[in-house]
Amino acid sequence: MKELSIRTSERCCLIDITREVSRVINNSGIKSGIATLFVPHTTASITINENADPDVKTDILMKLDKIVDSDMEFRHSEGNSAAHLKAVMTGFSVSVIIEDGVMQLGTWQGIYLCEYDGPRTRKVYIKTMG
Ligand code: ZN
Repeated sequence: MKELSIRTSERCCLIDITREVSRVINNSGIKSGIATLFVPHTTASITINENADPDVKTDILMKLDKIVDSDMEFRHSEGNSAAHLKAVMTGFSVSVIIEDGVMQLGTWQGIYLCEYDGPRTRKVYIKTMG
């Protein structure tokens, strides 16, 4: 298993980690297989979405904010329930198909680490099987 360490710079942000993941997969030498990416956190997550127009990231974060309504009275005493909920909604792992040594992402797809309670240093585990 490989591990990425990603420093986030804002409370909420989506960080494109496609290049870092590609580097790990290239170094693994796998030509055909699967990479599973897992985020071992409860207020950060991982997802795949458009990496061409940065407004998509902004829209996702804005809408998550509206859906989760952080003004509501949560019971969790740490005060970051909104971050926990957003992480649940976007998920903690993604799998990507590798063919000819390359991740088979769509033209407009990138892999994002989703931070909802930063800034912090976050881990992404990558396990490749080929
Ligand atoms: Zn908490």
